[in-house]
Amino acid sequence: MNMQTPVKSDAIVRLEGVVKRFGEFTAVERADFEIGRGEFLAIMGSSGCGKTTTLRMLAGLEDPSEGNIYLDGARVNGKATWDRDTPMVWQSLALFPFLTVQENVEFSLKMRGVGKAERAQRARKWLDKMQILEFADRNISQLSGGQRQRVALARALVTEPKILLLDEPLSALDAHLKVRMQAVLSNLQKDLGITFVYVTHSMSEAFSMADRVVIMSRGKIEQIGTPQEIYHAPRNRFVAEFLGSANIFTGKLVEKTGDLWQVETAHGRFAVKAPQTPAKSVGDTLSFVVSAEKMQISAADAGVPGIRARVVGEEFVGASAIVFLETDAGEELKVQKSHGELASIDLHSGSPLTLHWEPEACHVLPGE
Ligand code: ATP
Repeated sequence: MNMQTPVKSDAIVRLEGVVKRFGEFTAVERADFEIGRGEFLAIMGSSGCGKTTTLRMLAGLEDPSEGNIYLDGARVNGKATWDRDTPMVWQSLALFPFLTVQENVEFSLKMRGVGKAERAQRARKWLDKMQILEFADRNISQLSGGQRQRVALARALVTEPKILLLDEPLSALDAHLKVRMQAVLSNLQKDLGITFVYVTHSMSEAFSMADRVVIMSRGKIEQIGTPQEIYHAPRNRFVAEFLGSANIFTGKLVEKTGDLWQVETAHGRFAVKAPQTPAKSVGDTLSFVVSAEKMQISAADAGVPGIRARVVGEEFVGASAIVFLETDAGEELKVQKSHGELASIDLHSGSPLTLHWEPEACHVLPGE
């Protein structure tokens, strides 16, 4: 099954049937994907799903139990990490506390035998690009979190690698700095044209920076696609639930008229517009998603057909709010609307409301 959007340019990284086992435990299960030259690829998933193990295999810190890894056309299985052009930036940064900022950045050049004058010149160029040249002679302990982050990036980039591997590099920063560093990273990647492979468990980080996102769960790749593709067309229930904004319904396909399908669910019969979904026949079970933003909400006495539910909670997200509701059967549903749109609805009296949607708002999960 090919779940991958083709890469835009020629591939610089290729994983072919890559499996990683630790004893009996399979940490990565048959990873098959390519990363385009100059692409920003994020690998996302919850804790323990195999993100770091995948990155470590690219770095040469782990060897695959099965399958092949190609970097820039050459098979690199078994090749040591220092023989690969894949530096890594970690969450912990791993800067040397007893060296100055400039000495930290010069370090990998020194290891490669680059002469003193050239080392200094190259290190200062990258410190300047990262806007931290003024701190060149300071000790690491005298820098803020964001400044340390820039030193770690300068140190990784000073060898001008083709691929940079980043493992949760921003997770130690506060929310404000995180957003600023996201912009720094994103612009840097576009300007330099370096391929970034970026591991994170944060959807907002992955979706705001990456060209494509890989979603993993328990060692398996669930979907690969652009943020838009994943957001608007999750492949299966796992991805839809991971996105957090999906209402998922399951039912039986009872009638097909062109691309307008009638689906019988526990809540009644709904029309689903299914333009480009896999073959399903009348009688088949299917699941479809209505995202919280596409869900409509009305007072129950407005007479609109739909699902009756009561408000159980509300969460403010900037200009909009997510309203959580519960059906009589105890199922949780959610609606996301602007405060203006919600103003005309009485959310707080405890009286039932009706949730409804247009057939076009539905997305049939193709992988279910
Ligand atoms: P997190 O977000 O928590 O860092 P992750 O998705 O990066 O998680 P990995 O570090 O890749 O997860 O680990 C995947 C699984 O493999 C985990 O269950 C982990 O315990 C296991 N694992 C990783 N390294 C080893 C090892 N050296 N020996 C045994 N098991 C390991």
